[in-house]
Formats: sequence, C-alpha cells, structure tokens
Amino acid sequence: MTDLSQDQVDKRAAIQKTATIWGVIAGAVAGLIALWILGGQGGAVRYGGAVIIALAAGFLVSWASFKSGSKSAQCPKCGAAFSLSRSDHVETLVSSTDKEEREEQTDKSTKVTTWTEDTLDVVDTYTCAKCADVSTKSYKTTRRRDEKSVVEPFEPPRENAKSGKRAAAKADDAKPDGAKAGNPRKRRR
Ligand SMILES: [Zn+2]
Repeated sequence: MTDLSQDQVDKRAAIQKTATIWGVIAGAVAGLIALWILGGQGGAVRYGGAVIIALAAGFLVSWASFKSGSKSAQCPKCGAAFSLSRSDHVETLVSSTDKEEREEQTDKSTKVTTWTEDTLDVVDTYTCAKCADVSTKSYKTTRRRDEKSVVEPFEPPRENAKSGKRAAAKADDAKPDGAKAGNPRKRRR
C-alpha cells in the first residue's frame, strides 16, 4: 500500500476525514451520556470515566467508518485500494404517490400533513482510477416533495347514530399502512 497514486492518497484522506468527523461526533455523544450516567460519582471517576468512554467510542466509530469507507472504495476488479470514485449518478422517476398523515394534537385538533412521495431508480457509476474498470450500483430510493401541513380544528361529534358510524369508519382508515411503511419490495413466500 506504499505505491498509491495521488488520486488514491486523496481518496484515503477524504475517507479518513469522514471517519474522524464521525468519531468526534460519537465521542462527544458517548462522553455526554457517560457524564450523565456517572452523575452520582465523585469528580475523578465521573470525568475520568467520561473521557475514557468518549475516546473508546470515538476510536471505535472512526475505525468502523474508515473500514467501511475503504471497503467501498476498493476496486472489485483489480483490488486496488482507495481507487473507486463515483463518476455518474442517474435518477429515473418510477412513480409518484400522494400521501397523507393525520396526527391528533393535544388540543384535539388534527394536524394533516400531505406530500408527494417519488420513488426513484438510481444508478451510480463508479470508475477505478487504476484499471479504469467501470461498475454500476443500482438501488431504489424515495423522496418527499411538496410537503404541506394544515391544522384542522376539533369538531365535536353530533349526537346521532349516523355521525358515530362515520367517525368509526374514519378511525379505521387511519390505522393501516401508515405513511412510513415504505413500499414493500420483493415478497418472500
Ligand atoms: Zn481497478
């Protein structure tokens, strides 16, 4: 790994930088949690423990991030490290669905959020800096757009059977397939 080209050196530096950022974030979060958990301990144990936990979490996360970054940057064909770079990114719109989410507020009004959910086919192209091999990865992704929220004021139900029935039907509507239940892919039998 000593004869890396400039491209590979740059790539490794970028992966290292991302890994460091993640490590610092993880260390800070873990350290704060440790300070909170060790709140009842004496100063030395509390701060010493928090520092150790922060460092351990930071190194672990940055190591994992560097490892996964290195792996995805390794050319599957020639095995060169830090050689794959994304050279193209193509999105194709597959479908658009209108979605709605109803959320009851504490004052009994209802917050209604509507949006359009686009399902996209994405094809990423990666090129190896060493052997110039071109590989592609394709996946599906969803994206929200035109999100709007309206608050519907609470309407007390009228005292007759008809509106009671309607309310029950409405409650049934709200239950199944919440907006977050993404689109099922291939089903297994
Ligand atoms: Zn290669």
